Amino acid sequence: MPIAIIKSDITTLAVDAIVNAANNSLLGGGGVDGAIHHAAGPDLFAYNRTLGGCPTGEARISPGFNLPAKWIIHTVGPVWQGGDAGEAVLLQACYVNSFTLALEYEIESIAFPGISTGVYGYPKQAAAWIALSAMREFDPHFKIITACCFSEADRRLYEDIFTAR
Ligand code: ADP
Repeated sequence: MPIAIIKSDITTLAVDAIVNAANNSLLGGGGVDGAIHHAAGPDLFAYNRTLGGCPTGEARISPGFNLPAKWIIHTVGPVWQGGDAGEAVLLQACYVNSFTLALEYEIESIAFPGISTGVYGYPKQAAAWIALSAMREFDPHFKIITACCFSEADRRLYEDIFTAR
């Protein structure tokens, strides 16, 4: 089914699940994580305290609380350290583990931000390749997969990579 590449604030999307680029604590931070916690409300913080954190590359799920999305899948991307510290394998694991969790919860529509491409410093082009490859792999299992870019430049980068492959 379709992969949609859009420019949007992921907290506004009425999909079954949005993915959060969280940190290991799952208790909130800056960037998209902060925006999601702010929009979901304080119940998300209270809920995530019960989850006990999340290792890098893995994923956990919570309700969406005040968000239009029903679920939030929290995944922890790698911090970019130059590329020789297993970052690509970990970033791919974020996408695969998020999709796998989504399938367990019978989620049919899911939206991803550019995991690790903000504060965590992962080069955007390399990250987009990994994201779009995983999206193509899981595409048959979902009604719609959305790549939610936060800037027009990011959206164009995704489009270019998507059409080039
Ligand atoms: P990380 O720590 O994993 O790098 P960031 O939140 O710093 O996470 O950035 C991840 C990506 O999310 C960046 O590309 C950033 O532009 C994007 N982003 C930030 N806020 C939002 C938002 N509200 N909706 C969608 N994407 C966002």
